[in-house]
Amino acid sequence: MLHRNLIAGEWVGGDGATNVNPSNTNDIVGEYARASCDQARAAIAAAKAAFPAWSLSPILERHALLKKAADEIIARKEELGRLLAREEGKTLPEAIGEVTRAGQIFDFFAGEVLRLSGEVLPSVRPGVGVEITRDPIGVVGVITPWNFPIAIPAWKIAPALAYGNTVVLKPADLVPGCAWALVDILHRAGAPAGVVNLVMGRGSVVGQTMLDSPELDAITFTGSTGTGRRVALASIDHNRKYQLEMGGKNPFVILDDADLSVAVEAAANSSFFSTGQRCTASSRLIVTDGIHDRFVAALTERLRSLVVDDALKPGTHIGPVVDAGQLRQDEDYIDIGKKEGAHLAFGGDRLERDNPGFFLQPALFTQASNRMRIAREEIFGPVAAVIRVKDYDEALATANDTSFGLSSGIATTSLKHATHFKRHSEAGMVMVNLPTAGVDFHVPFGGRKGSSYGPREQGRYAAEFYTTVKTAYTSA
Ligand code: NAD
Repeated sequence: MLHRNLIAGEWVGGDGATNVNPSNTNDIVGEYARASCDQARAAIAAAKAAFPAWSLSPILERHALLKKAADEIIARKEELGRLLAREEGKTLPEAIGEVTRAGQIFDFFAGEVLRLSGEVLPSVRPGVGVEITRDPIGVVGVITPWNFPIAIPAWKIAPALAYGNTVVLKPADLVPGCAWALVDILHRAGAPAGVVNLVMGRGSVVGQTMLDSPELDAITFTGSTGTGRRVALASIDHNRKYQLEMGGKNPFVILDDADLSVAVEAAANSSFFSTGQRCTASSRLIVTDGIHDRFVAALTERLRSLVVDDALKPGTHIGPVVDAGQLRQDEDYIDIGKKEGAHLAFGGDRLERDNPGFFLQPALFTQASNRMRIAREEIFGPVAAVIRVKDYDEALATANDTSFGLSSGIATTSLKHATHFKRHSEAGMVMVNLPTAGVDFHVPFGGRKGSSYGPREQGRYAAEFYTTVKTAYTSA
């Protein structure tokens, strides 16, 4: 069966592309239609036509749609988790966790629809009243990456709809399956024609058509820094609101006074779980002198115990890399690290498993410096570098010495250092004795510097992007 695009409430065909399982390239997840430029433009026109009615729709209608979607996502979490694990390669428990989170996000924003509010203030002019309300912004283009195939579309679409916007979703070409399933759920849950549109396909075709369209009022983008820059430049030309979530080079600091087992578990999780393919993954482990050797020995031991295998196999800790291109990029960086003079202390080899897939042993560098490319550029794979420093001050300075600023972490038992780090870390999200990745669904998500641009996503802060503030004055 060809999974088609949804435009103006109709499923529309097109050239099919094959969705392949990175754990087993003989396993075809499905055929998904790639939208043409004309179809992308038709989807935007449909969203524009649907906007006036949806923006004024009764809040109970919006609440019911989001709640129904939330309930179905949660009810189908095992099945959708399998689909996610098959198309993206994260392990089944990780995938089920991501699907659950998508459901929770829809549930949260179903609640937010019922909590829409504004302010009524006295004017400085006698006899005049001031009301401050939030209006929807219009047609929102949603462009998403491959590494969270359902959670990221969910955390953009749910608030967009809750606040009365209409949506055109373009998921990453590598992982159309979960996006299709999500849009199918919303369609069957009763989204009126044109309120949610799906255009799968290539960034250079479908995504670029969206960037070039004067009809899109806003674009919310998550992906690489390079593409984010294109979104920004095109949006400026069209006077369009935009929001970017991009790359990271997240530091995890381990201090002498850390609980070693907490530090090792958090580091292994931060750097290698989900195959290191999380924007919040830590690829820089910044370790003070006194604990350095013990930490490296214990982390290496932990890595030895991690099972890299088929994402669906029980007992797998780390699934495959998402595709051949990303595997090449990971291996290139492993070579770069060696050539730069870092010591490959563990892993980095390709692994053969029962079926053909993109399996890579987690790679740990030691003797790295923060000037090396492996410490400055996003690799986006299971590759981390240990950077040795003399004390907390040097650790903090090293952690902040990066062009990115998404998340950061510290392992310490010192209240003083934990408090100082939370205050002075130049990141949007700071973790103490926790992995740099793994966040709640009801609080703001986002970063600083080269990692993010625009308002935060998720939680109540999402309203900043998906609405525009109106100040109305009335003379009684
Ligand atoms: P990518 O930039 O290659 O693609 C992201 C999306 O943009 C895809 O849907 C792609 O098709 C589309 N696209 C590509 N070219 C385009 C163009 N010319 N016009 C419009 N759209 C275009 O990123 P990716 O490889 O899918 O994802 C990995 C990246 O995403 C990493 O850098 C990672 O750090 C980042 N990421 C960031 C966050 C965050 O919240 N900060 C979360 C997840 C992933």
